[in-house]
Amino acid sequence: MTAQIINGKELSADLKQEMKAEVETLKQKGLTPHLTVILVGDNPASKSYVKGKEKAAAETGISSSLIELPDSTSENDLLQLIKELNEDTSVHGILVQLPLPEQISEQKVIETIHPDKDVDGFHPINIGKMMTGEDTFLPCTPYGIITMMKSKNIPLEGKHAVVIGRSNIVGKPVGQLLLNENATVTYCHSKTKNLKELAANADILIAAIGRAHALTGEYVKDGAVVIDVGINRQADGKLTGDVDFESAKEKASFITPVPRGVGPMTITMLLKNTIKAAKGLSAIE
Ligand code: NDP
Repeated sequence: MTAQIINGKELSADLKQEMKAEVETLKQKGLTPHLTVILVGDNPASKSYVKGKEKAAAETGISSSLIELPDSTSENDLLQLIKELNEDTSVHGILVQLPLPEQISEQKVIETIHPDKDVDGFHPINIGKMMTGEDTFLPCTPYGIITMMKSKNIPLEGKHAVVIGRSNIVGKPVGQLLLNENATVTYCHSKTKNLKELAANADILIAAIGRAHALTGEYVKDGAVVIDVGINRQADGKLTGDVDFESAKEKASFITPVPRGVGPMTITMLLKNTIKAAKGLSAIE
């Protein structure tokens, strides 16, 4: 079997077209969704992620502004700025690019963003709502992963999903969303003893580890759906995933590539959340 590729770049382009039409309609009703991004310091990877978010927003007609702060910014000043943006009715979504300099607590920042403007879906209130299955902002990468599988009509109910990685932004929430879709979920992490055996038992295998080519075809059951979240920069500067694409694609039924897989979907779902925030805060449908 050679797997069908789920191309996140193409799916993102389709979704952005749909969103562009929706934003146009909202603008006609006097509502322009607005995303404010805060970047602290000059981490090159963060700068490039922020640029990607601004570009994608512009493509859909969402307006965005970038607030750049120096590396030396105090936690207090950043929290104060967030509180002001919480009160600013022209701002619908607030995103603070992570990671932050060490003098600033990421958790405090996440908890200071108003849950109604939390387009990253990281606020504990929104995480709680996700866990209880209520309508809320879903964290962008897991939301993108579920959207990719649904776009291919991949059945999730009753399937055994194995999630490798348990971070708060990817592993844990993607497992929860799969559970909400009635999958049976196994979480694996660095202390898991029989990783290969568990992975090879998965109908849906999600790799969110951060180690290039950690999962070869031996970890993939025949016919499994393989979602590769990893973004690893190789010595030659190219990006690669956590999955050894060449060997895994011979066994999987569906597979996501890196690049052009989950990465573009993450930004696209951020835009979806921004539109949702704008509609929620303005009561315009
Ligand atoms: P973290 O480093 O926060 O988490 C990595 C997880 O992998 C941890 O739970 C860790 O276990 C687990 N792990 C590490 N080594 C092993 C191992 N040998 N066997 C099994 N599990 C292991 O990373 P993130 O979740 O933030 O990101 C994961 C990857 O996804 C990265 O490559 C990141 O760049 C990428 N990413 C991609 C995004 C996209 O848009 N495509 C968005 C966000 C992240 P433990 O908890 O025990 O330490």
